[in-house]
Amino acid sequence: MRKNSFSAKKSTRPERVFLKPSGNPLRDKCGIFGIYGKEVDVARISFFGLYSLQHRGQEGAGITVTDGKKLKSVKGLGLVSSVFDEEKINSLKGFASIGHTRYSTTGGNKLCNVQPVVLNLKDDVFALAHNGNIINAMDLAKTLPSQDKLSSTSDTEIMGWIIKNSKGKSWEEKVFTSFSQFQGAFSIIALTKNKLIAFRDSYGFRPLVLGELNGSYITCSETCALDTVGAKFIREVAPGEIIVIDEKGIHSLGKVRSIKKSFCLFEYVYLARPDSIFNKQLVHQVRQRSGEILAHESPVGADMVVAVPDSGTSAAIGYSKASGIPYGEVLIKNRYIGRTFIQPEQHIRDMGVRIKFNPLKEIVKGKRIIIVDDSIVRGTTMKKIVKMLKNCGAKKVHIRVCSPPVTDPCYFGIDTPDKKKLIASKMTVKEIEKFIGADSLAYLSLNGLKKASRVKSDELCTSCFDGKYPMPVAGGFRKDVFESEDTNLRMNPNQRISKFVD
Ligand code: AMP
Repeated sequence: MRKNSFSAKKSTRPERVFLKPSGNPLRDKCGIFGIYGKEVDVARISFFGLYSLQHRGQEGAGITVTDGKKLKSVKGLGLVSSVFDEEKINSLKGFASIGHTRYSTTGGNKLCNVQPVVLNLKDDVFALAHNGNIINAMDLAKTLPSQDKLSSTSDTEIMGWIIKNSKGKSWEEKVFTSFSQFQGAFSIIALTKNKLIAFRDSYGFRPLVLGELNGSYITCSETCALDTVGAKFIREVAPGEIIVIDEKGIHSLGKVRSIKKSFCLFEYVYLARPDSIFNKQLVHQVRQRSGEILAHESPVGADMVVAVPDSGTSAAIGYSKASGIPYGEVLIKNRYIGRTFIQPEQHIRDMGVRIKFNPLKEIVKGKRIIIVDDSIVRGTTMKKIVKMLKNCGAKKVHIRVCSPPVTDPCYFGIDTPDKKKLIASKMTVKEIEKFIGADSLAYLSLNGLKKASRVKSDELCTSCFDGKYPMPVAGGFRKDVFESEDTNLRMNPNQRISKFVD
């Protein structure tokens, strides 16, 4: 048993970083990728895998490889392409690797927050790449023998130590015995000296898929990453399942009982790439169907349907198809700008919208336009876009949003802001319409969105739209709230109030 891992002699152990509660957090909606393959350049394949998962996190990236004796990591702030170069990729030699792209909304960017998290033990190593959020992380931290040394802003690090301290001869046994202690969302790829362990919480909030590439096995967040590296999709890791990939191949340790499958509906709305497939549903088609359903639910006369690119494109195509109103391009996106949502300060976010989209003035002038986007969160993006279109001489600007109003914060890995910053939690649709300055505003109904997903209605997490959390979250740990430098956000009691579905 680890007596006091955190105070182990510094000289014998690689540097550990203790995060302060006031420091900046790891924040999720991350992309994870892992590969086991003796004959391949695992670091290079991980690099390309992460590259295709860039949309899930743009603030930092890291890859950890094993050569059977030790783990080696390269991590950095920024995009995958700026963290890694030829030299760094070549320095990562081994037969298995895991990688991570990191996402955050507020607070600063620090290298110590970039994953994979590596636990350097006296005579062993264990690394984790995590997508999700553990709501009981703080309680778990208190059970650690050396909690006084653990500042605990990383739930992933806490998970690592809990696993390490759990019963079991092997790492996978330890994962199994510790599994039920973790409440919340976790799709994880762990790396030991000689194997990969992929596991997914029993609710299946965040995606995790398996693939094969000429005898090498891959596990990652989305199927688009499999396509990118030329791998074949095998199947999804089931909710509650633990998979081990080692020299004997790929094997499942079985499943922890799933109480309530709760795949995140917002993955279909926004988070995932349109070319990914979950639950046998191509994300692009789900979005297109949601646009079609919205056109039936909320029709309006107009000259053209346009998308907020790229997040609204698939849905706008669907809306146009069902309404018979021609689809056209009006907003030209600067593709070299990250997601505006990601900018921590409101004034930078405001500017971000302007530098991100430039309207085709000549086309907009005198037209009645239906503008389709996937979601409205704070209302910043849409307000700016409507103003831009009106300034260009649009006769009418109608907004159609292909998801229901986002009313409640997510505890399961998406950084939807604090409830009071969600525009739909404090305004009615009519009030939002007025605030944004649109001629009309309509959202897709929750039933319409569920229908578009074609996933069984009771197997989806819809909590950001209806506040019905699939597990109790009262008092739950949210990385972004706990670690926020914004004291209002940290103290807000609304974060701790929730409805619980049984
Ligand atoms: P807002 O300006 O706050 O209303 O943000 C709405 C925009 O952010 C929409 O265009 C969405 O595509 C996008 N969006 C929605 N959810 C997220 C998220 N979790 N992370 C980043 N962007 C998001």
